[in-house]
Amino acid sequence: MKFKYCPMCGGELEEKYSWDEGGVPYCPKDDIMYFDTPRPCVIVAVIKENKILLLKQSYIFKDSKVLLSGYVTNGETVEETVHREVFEEAGLKVKDLKYLGSEYVKNNNKEIIMLTFMAKYDGGNIKKSAEVEWVNWGYIEDALCEMKEDEIGKRIVRKVLKELGYIGEKAYRCDNNCQTDS
Ligand SMILES: [Zn+2]
Repeated sequence: MKFKYCPMCGGELEEKYSWDEGGVPYCPKDDIMYFDTPRPCVIVAVIKENKILLLKQSYIFKDSKVLLSGYVTNGETVEETVHREVFEEAGLKVKDLKYLGSEYVKNNNKEIIMLTFMAKYDGGNIKKSAEVEWVNWGYIEDALCEMKEDEIGKRIVRKVLKELGYIGEKAYRCDNNCQTDS
């Protein structure tokens, strides 16, 4: 999001030249440059043996399950975000985090950089938070079919499948054409 007014003093911002970025909105009163940056968020595929943690959040996708996700809070590392969000939304502990790359998303005025991870289950029983509609383990082999609308989630699951050594058709058990939409 490109700022027009200073969030600190409300004054109109000027453009200030920055070496790498070109013109950057700048408040001369507060001496702050407001760089146009996306909001960082984590998205996590939690794995327990042959199962993966899936959530239902109708406000994101009406008919799809999704992976667990959450915004990075100022003051924590991205890894801490993963542990915190998995515990807050599902009541679980995880270990062996593995970074799987990032995805940039822009929709409805939201600009998000999604840092994607897989993590191993490390204890606890599922305890759903109030902000989650439904959360439970699903077979990894069915995940792509259950996540129909969630393109980013499916891309992450495909990476997870690769990491876990799934090859060919083994990862797709449903009868529809999910396997053809890669
Ligand atoms: Zn200001």
